[in-house]
Amino acid sequence: MRKIVTTLLLVLFTLNINAQNRKEFFKSPNGMFLISSDLHIHSVFSDGEVWPSIRIKEARRDGLDLISLTEHLEYLSYKNDMNITDRNRSFEISNSMLKEEEALMVINGTEITKPMPPGHFNAVFIKDANLIINPDGEKAIIEANKQGAFVFWNHPNWVENRDDAIARFDKLHERLLKKKLFHGIEVVNEHTYSEEALALALEHNLTIMGTSDIHGLIDWTFDKEKKHHRPITFIISKNITKKSIRDALFSQKTFVWHRDMLIGKKENLLPIIDKNLTITSNGYYKKIVTIKLKNHSVIPLKIKYTGVYTFHSYGSLLEVPANGELLVTVKTKEILDSIEMPFEILNIIVEPNKNLEIIKTVKL
Ligand SMILES: [Zn+2]
Ligand SMILES: [Zn+2]
Repeated sequence: MRKIVTTLLLVLFTLNINAQNRKEFFKSPNGMFLISSDLHIHSVFSDGEVWPSIRIKEARRDGLDLISLTEHLEYLSYKNDMNITDRNRSFEISNSMLKEEEALMVINGTEITKPMPPGHFNAVFIKDANLIINPDGEKAIIEANKQGAFVFWNHPNWVENRDDAIARFDKLHERLLKKKLFHGIEVVNEHTYSEEALALALEHNLTIMGTSDIHGLIDWTFDKEKKHHRPITFIISKNITKKSIRDALFSQKTFVWHRDMLIGKKENLLPIIDKNLTITSNGYYKKIVTIKLKNHSVIPLKIKYTGVYTFHSYGSLLEVPANGELLVTVKTKEILDSIEMPFEILNIIVEPNKNLEIIKTVKL
């Protein structure tokens, strides 16, 4: 019994350390965890330029919770120099580097790499990459599904596959979709964002994904001096366990951080922005009231006020810096207890050409 209690305490303690070690990009709604992930990464085990250990170190530097090394099954750039017999090796090497106390997790994944159609598909949460190798893309995707994989269509806007960079389905994609053989779509890949892919995701209930698809070094590809960062998919999960994260991916509980934009379904983003934008009153002077807009997130919030009042020193466009605040004086014409403030958040995209709308009640 004592042993069980000690083990339980140890497990709780470890979980606690893991939770404490996590980087907070956004405040998460109560009872939810925002799992930061990059599920499309390459190493020298396909056509990437680095050993898998560098991917772990980069993920630690970026404060990620979850990555997957998704090596191409079909492209092995160094096959004359490296004898790759087991396609799970980059997963095994990276996974073995993890320490008990760290937050980072690695899942096994692969990239099924075919000409169009179907193009390139990532499968993550796979059991054995070797069994997925198949000259027929559809059969490879079926095998990944048999292993319980979460499967998503990579870079549907890639100019090498679509010379107009417009993401759209071919007959084969429609068939795969009908059979529920893929579950997500990349709306962001490396530096690109596809509004057409977002439209496809919303129309067909696909999970919205954003990934780095990194081949070189993260810091050379995404220049911190230009305030760039790798695209991160946040998975809204009930627990910090692989099972819960996988469930959340299948339930489309994601949003993507790309440059200073967030892209995702309204139902996913609204509670997060509600939590990360708080407004308090600094009190009235005469009949004008100063309010403090506080942004608890890593992105600046570019806001358009759409209500009836006017401000004393700004027009309707406001910007609350990342992890910062902005004081705004509102002319309410009379002294009020509270006001409703409707906003559009211009850098949060919930549909093609549509930004997140939110109404905040402010106690004055
Ligand atoms: Zn690819
Ligand atoms: Zn790739």
